[in-house]
Amino acid sequence: MASNNDLKASEMFEGLLHLYKHLHSYALDGMSIRWMIELGIPDIIHNHDQPITLTELVSILQIPPTKVRAVHSLLRYLAHSGFLEIVRDHHNTEEKEAYALTAASQLLVKDTHLSLAPMAELLINPSGGLVWSHLKKWTYEDDLTLFDVSLGSNAWGFLGKNQEKNNLFNKAMASDSQMMNVALRGCNWVFEGVESIVDVGGGTGTTAKAISDAFPNVKCTVLDRQQVVENLSGTNDLKYVGGDMFESIPKADAVLLKWVLHNWSDKDCKKILENCKEAISGKGKRGKVIVIESVINEGQDEHGITGLKLLMDVKMSCLFNGKERSEEEWKKLFVEAGFQSYKISPLTGHLSLIQIYP
Ligand code: SAH
Repeated sequence: MASNNDLKASEMFEGLLHLYKHLHSYALDGMSIRWMIELGIPDIIHNHDQPITLTELVSILQIPPTKVRAVHSLLRYLAHSGFLEIVRDHHNTEEKEAYALTAASQLLVKDTHLSLAPMAELLINPSGGLVWSHLKKWTYEDDLTLFDVSLGSNAWGFLGKNQEKNNLFNKAMASDSQMMNVALRGCNWVFEGVESIVDVGGGTGTTAKAISDAFPNVKCTVLDRQQVVENLSGTNDLKYVGGDMFESIPKADAVLLKWVLHNWSDKDCKKILENCKEAISGKGKRGKVIVIESVINEGQDEHGITGLKLLMDVKMSCLFNGKERSEEEWKKLFVEAGFQSYKISPLTGHLSLIQIYP
């Protein structure tokens, strides 16, 4: 522990550096990504088929000469942050610098089957920043969420009254769920013997479609709030049901909960899981609940993965009264809801697939 007085100059400068990196990146880290998407830079580079030079980009975007230096500055910062790669070409003696997409910015190309641009649109917007500006007030408001404090109703109430935001939210969640097309590819063993599944809080059905495509023998039902599913039409293999998971869940061999439980307190999760258990009752060995969520594991996870999980924990805690959970916390929840055993398997970098059995 260092006090101000006995900090060596070098340590103080290190502290200053750390502080300034965070103070100055507030807003800019997010907004530079938003800027890149709004200008369509990932799409332009993607369609260019090869790294693009500043001159080429400036010409395509018709950027006025007075702004070129600053645009270069933004691109260089985005490259430093891992959202662009600077490729140097030493052809014809004159060195040419060009920008390529990284794995992260590849996901920001719009209208591809794995685009997270809708998620970026939801998460990076000025009104989101405004919600977080109420954090101090929220601290003293008993069990109200940050949504209650800043917008006057909880998240679902707010989305219920705001069709436009509701659509934005659903599209963002759907964009994340597209990853399930890749993530569930190697998961045959999870769906073995499963003939029907209900995706509870399944949004507009992207995960259910991924399951239905990968495992054609599985009949899928998506249960979500009436407002989310009311205009969606199903198929033979994919049915939409509007309803409340706290009331009842349609019967099936398996129930899926992806990114649902982290929105809720332990007490609410217990109720949801009890209803899931009821939905799979009488299904014998086939009956199980599949939870796709993070498992906080600071001891084993890489520092960056833990960082994301802790960040999500703050968001879930403040915005929803929910949380991200460690294995111990999950286990306690499953036992309290009457389940006998569980098995955790890795799924994506930050999400695990947890099967729980009655
Ligand atoms: N599983 C989806 C969506 C996760 S967001 C995905 O991962 O993409 C949480 C979902 O829970 C939202 O679609 C929300 O509408 C739904 N939800 C919230 N309260 C609900 C309730 N009481 N009953 C059913 N669904 C609910």
